[in-house]
Amino acid sequence: MRHFIQGFFWLGVYLFVSLLPLFVVFLGPHPPGRDFLTELSVALGFVGLAMVGLQFFLTARFRPIEAPYGLDVILHFHREISTAAFLIILAHPLLIFWRDGSLQILNLSVQPARVWFAVISLLALATLIATSIWRKALRLSYEKWRLLHGTLAIIALGFALGHVIGVGHYIADLWQQILWSLMAAASVAVLLYIRVFKPLMLKRRPYTISEVRDEGGQTWTLRCRPEGHEGLEFEAGQFAWLSLWESPFSIEEHPFSMSSSALQRDHVDFTIKALGDFTAKVANVEEGSTTYIDGPYGAFTSDRYPAAGYVFIAGGIGITPIMSMLRTLADYGDTRPLLLIFAAHEFESLTFYDEIEKLHDRLENLQTIYVLDSPPDDWDGETGYVDSELIERHMPEYPRRHEYFLCGPFPMLVNVEQALLSVDVPRTHIHAELFNLV
Ligand SMILES: Cc1cc2nc3c(=O)[nH]c(=O)nc-3n(C[C@H](O)[C@H](O)[C@H](O)COP(=O)(O)OP(=O)(O)OC[C@H]3O[C@@H](n4cnc5c(N)ncnc54)[C@H](O)[C@@H]3O)c2cc1C
Repeated sequence: MRHFIQGFFWLGVYLFVSLLPLFVVFLGPHPPGRDFLTELSVALGFVGLAMVGLQFFLTARFRPIEAPYGLDVILHFHREISTAAFLIILAHPLLIFWRDGSLQILNLSVQPARVWFAVISLLALATLIATSIWRKALRLSYEKWRLLHGTLAIIALGFALGHVIGVGHYIADLWQQILWSLMAAASVAVLLYIRVFKPLMLKRRPYTISEVRDEGGQTWTLRCRPEGHEGLEFEAGQFAWLSLWESPFSIEEHPFSMSSSALQRDHVDFTIKALGDFTAKVANVEEGSTTYIDGPYGAFTSDRYPAAGYVFIAGGIGITPIMSMLRTLADYGDTRPLLLIFAAHEFESLTFYDEIEKLHDRLENLQTIYVLDSPPDDWDGETGYVDSELIERHMPEYPRRHEYFLCGPFPMLVNVEQALLSVDVPRTHIHAELFNLV
């Protein structure tokens, strides 16, 4: 309930701030002799600008804002609303062209700086959106893209503000100047928070890697112990951003789910599969080295959804947040019915297999189903993929009384969600985590 109210509150704040410029334009004073089309164009420009400014807040990973929705939902909103903001801003010059019946204003050689500022801002925004949509096709690494993304966002906002000041309408009165200055200062403050204040806070909360454990299947667990502070308080299933080898000021940090129990406060574990350039280096992390953890984030946690029982469906390394939930439930001595369906390509990729088997001693109502796509000859478990037929066979007796947690590759999540819906599981009982935020 608390998260529900918080969610509504932040939505209200978002709507209020993005529509604030409309009140400014409405209240005036209006420049003389302007027609409706011009005023509409200006109002849209201002609203678009406020929306771009708000993007800095959406991506700053403020925990109170993120907590009710989960970071994936916030970032999804950020992506969708960026395109909307761009289209709203684009409508600003398009309405001017329409009003003038010509593109004369684009003859930049005779235009004042304020028009140049507007063009630069719009181009930066267009490039920002294009490189985000086609990042993979453009073969941009995540790190390069992130640097470019931040730089283009600052250029777009800075030049747009230059354009507003150059035009000079609706910024003449003292109250308007205070309002716009506050909005601009807030955006700068967010940047300082992300790049300076937050890294300084993380620097004061270092962790030592006390163990690097080979889990097989190209997967390693890093055990991190807090140094001089009380450690990470999290809800089982959440994730954090890890900076290995790097200072917290570095741009290189990656999201990983905590795999340890939320009740173990003297250490936190991350279990990482080597899938790319960063994760491939995890095996070489030296015990005793320092790391920084920015978290917790995410809403993928059984703690928030009390139920008669839980069904966990994991694909490959998607077991990590679910393992954290199982370990935590075991530490609580939970007796509710729990079903784990764990699918992987081959046996080596069933990370934590031995420990999950031992968990049966502590979780008396835990049932486990393993599904292998490429099983060994002596395999007597399920084979193939997790499909509706397999789900139907293993569904709990009262499916509507359970909550469902899904984590794995995207095609698997889509299929499993469909399968669950088809056996009458309410959509609101299905919670999914995709290991891909961008
Ligand atoms: C919420 C969440 C929880 C995760 N938990 C785990 C886990 O417990 N164990 C595990 O092994 N993996 C986990 N991942 C996946 C892990 O973050 C990526 O595999 C890792 O960042 C890839 O980095 P790379 O340089 O090795 O691979 P690359 O080949 O460079 O990247 C592969 C893809 O991963 C994404 N990616 C790369 N770098 C980042 C970054 N810094 N931030 C965000 N996305 C990035 C991009 O989409 C990129 O295209 C999780 C991801 C998310 C979003």
